[in-house]
Formats: sequence, C-alpha cells, structure tokens
Amino acid sequence: MFNKILIANRGEIALRVIRTCREMGIKTVAVYSTADKESLHVRFADEAVCIGPPPSRQSYLNIPTLIAAAEITNADAIHPGYGFLSENAEFSRICQENGIKFIGASPDMINRMGDKASAKATMIAAGVPVVPGSDGLLQSVEQGKKVAAKIKYPVILKATAGGGGRGMRIINAEDEFQHAWDSARTEAAAAFGNDGMYLEKYVEEPRHIEIQICGDQYGHVCHLSERDCSIQRRHQKLVEEAPSPFMTDDLRERMGAAAIAGAAAIGYEGVGTIEFLVDKNRDFYFMEMNTRIQVEHPVTEEIINYDLIKEQIKVAAGIPISGRNYLPTGHAMECRINAEDPRAGFRPAPGRITTLHIPGGHGVRVDTHVYAGYQIPPNYDSMIAKLITVAQTREECIVKMKRALSEFVVEGVKTTIPFHLALMDSEDFKAGNFTTKFLESFDFSVV
Ligand code: ADP
Repeated sequence: MFNKILIANRGEIALRVIRTCREMGIKTVAVYSTADKESLHVRFADEAVCIGPPPSRQSYLNIPTLIAAAEITNADAIHPGYGFLSENAEFSRICQENGIKFIGASPDMINRMGDKASAKATMIAAGVPVVPGSDGLLQSVEQGKKVAAKIKYPVILKATAGGGGRGMRIINAEDEFQHAWDSARTEAAAAFGNDGMYLEKYVEEPRHIEIQICGDQYGHVCHLSERDCSIQRRHQKLVEEAPSPFMTDDLRERMGAAAIAGAAAIGYEGVGTIEFLVDKNRDFYFMEMNTRIQVEHPVTEEIINYDLIKEQIKVAAGIPISGRNYLPTGHAMECRINAEDPRAGFRPAPGRITTLHIPGGHGVRVDTHVYAGYQIPPNYDSMIAKLITVAQTREECIVKMKRALSEFVVEGVKTTIPFHLALMDSEDFKAGNFTTKFLESFDFSVV
C-alpha cells in the first residue's frame, strides 16, 4: 500500500480523498494556489505545498510544479481528483516516468477515451451501441451536411475534446449548419485547444444514465449500478440520483453488460464511468467514458455502501477486486450547491460566506470544503458543497432532501439552494417523470 499520496486538486474532492487516506493510514500532501491557502483541504492534510498563483494554468495544471511537490515530500502516488489533470495523458505518463503511481487511468487509456470520436470507435468495436453519427472527425461542413442528411435532423455537433457541456450545438436544419460549425469550433478551440468536431443524431428527450464501473490490474471488471444525471442546465448536471427512476432490472443488466464489455475491451483499470443516453423505448447509446472519479460518485457509494475512493486506491496499489457486480439497496440523491444565482441565469456569485449552517441527521451527507468566513475564489468552479441524502425509497429520499435543504443556511453569497427546494416540490420530478430537457421548461419564477 502507498505510504503517502499527493492530492493534485482542491476543494471538496481534495478533502474527500484526504479523509479516505486517513482511514487507510496513508499520509497526505495537499497542494494549493495562493487563492486557496485558507481552504480546508490544506488544513486537513498532513503536509501542504503552495504550487503557485490563483490561475489554474500556473498552479493546479502546472505539471512540473506538481511533480516537484511530490518529489520534495516523498509522495509515492498522486490522486488527481476530477477536472484539472485527472484525464491528462501527459500527466499520467510523466507520473509513471518519475516512479509516482498515478491513481487514475494509464496514458494509453486516457488517449483512447479522452478523444470522444475515437472512444466511440473503440466502443463500436466492443459491440456497445453508440448514437448514429459521423465516422470519426468531420473534415468539412459539406461532409457534415452529408452525414446529417443521412442520419436526419435534428443532429448535434460535438467537440471531440469536449467537456462540461461546451463545444456542442444542436442543429435542426441544414441552413443552421455553417453557423453552428463556426461557433462550436471557436468555442472548442478556446476551451480545449482542439477544434475537432464530430456529429451525432440528436436523441430527443433522452435520459442521461451512466454506469459506474471498476476494473483491476488482473482483467476483472464489474459494474456498480447506475446514476441518473438527467437534471441538467446547459448540459451541466445539477442533481444526480441512484438508482434511476427509469431503470428496470432488465435494462440495468443490459447496460451493465455493455459497460463492462466496453471497459474490458480496453483493459480498463481503476474506477470509471460509461455515460449513455437512454431514449423512451429504453434503447441506450454510449456517449463517452470518464476515466476518473466523478463529482456524483457519492450517490453510488450510498446505495452500495462502498467507498469508491478507497477502491480506487486499492486497485492502483495492485489489490484485486471481488469481480461481482453491485446492485442498489435504497435510494440516494445529490444536489450540487453552487455559489450561483438561480434567479439570474445561474450567474456565478463568488464572495465571502458570512454565515454557514450545514444540515445533518439521519441519511444526510455533506461533502464540502467551505466554512463560515470562507472566501470563494472567483478562479475555479462554483460548486461549494454536495448535499447527499439516502433513504429506503425515492419518495423518502426526496422528503429528506427537502428537509436538509431547508436547514442549509449559506449567507453572504447566492446559492442554488432555492432552486433545489423548488425542484423537490415539482410534481413531475417527484413522479420521476423527466428527461435532459426538463429544466428548459422549468418555471424559475417559483425559485
Ligand atoms: P460533456 O463531456 O461536455 O459533458 P457529453 O457528451 O457528456 O458532454 O454530453 C453532455 C450532455 O449533452 C448529455 O448529458 C446530454 O444531455 C446532451 N447530449 C449529448 N449528446 C447528445 C445527443 N446525441 N442527443 C441528445 N443530447 C445529447
């Protein structure tokens, strides 16, 4: 087992990893930018190293500095969390070359899955259903129009390097193609430094359902059931739950088998997520694979009673998994509490938290790095906490979530709490009756 792990991340996920390490008797090193010197992850770690100024490029994305921090502190592994360098093949490779275990995917797996167009090709070869679309990257608008005519509008143009819902455009008719192409490519070039585009059939009113998988170094892969992440705003997840209210035993078996086949095809090692779109006929299509721990992993932990970070660390250390699949018991839900104003189009609202009361009680879990007096830096994402509830049924889980949300007090900055409270009162949400388009018609005046 590792002696000391450096966590190349910040915020709640850095703290989350530190907590598991402490339970496992592994020492931890936090890294922080000058904007985060007061952050809780810095205080909870055994050691902390300042890695630079606030901009991510000069701190959390700065590979040489991170490697130097690991070497100075004698860390034998690096946990990248999510975002930042968690799916960066170069970082994974440099860790390997420096004899530091990267607790994540190998450079080869990241390369094969990070590029979404080639990930689709890999999945097709493994027999996993994918959304019909272009065969790899599009070379021109003309080629795109030809593919669109074949698969029929509406279609969706997507950045091969995409993430966080960026670099994506829905196209309803041919005369919209050129404009969508130009704007999506500009956005993707700016956000990812890669303007490669591919095309897919736009699946109408789908659900976003993803399968959590885990593979070890000996070729075993298992699934740990699904998460429903259909409650999204601008393709960004806001609420996640497990199991999916749309799930049936048969669909879980089919999706689980497809996810395992996809992961096994690349010899996947570690925890990962295979994202699917599911249409109203319960046909499902591979969308992408995330080769890292995800923000919403706690809902899975709560329904299978299993620490996914611990599993990730054990697999990285060469310990075999049991190989059996995990089916849900009970129901869990996560609301992302972001410092954003839901009444003003979810505009980020950084600032100082003056008062904070965190909910508690039976079945309530809060993963957060903030405290009263905490200054939210404007440099990073706006999530300040994840509120997770777990109960025996979905109905009870929603009641508990409402109760916990109403106890949650954050003063000094605007948050998404009023939105989540309104959502928990929505009849369609309560009935499990929603798709990824749900929030497009949501009445935000009740927030
Ligand atoms: P990102 O990596 O940016 O999150 P994804 O490929 O995971 O991008 O897609 C994010 C969301 O965009 C999905 O959850 C879904 O709501 C929507 N989406 C993506 N592809 C399609 C498609 N072919 N049809 C309909 N919706 C889609």
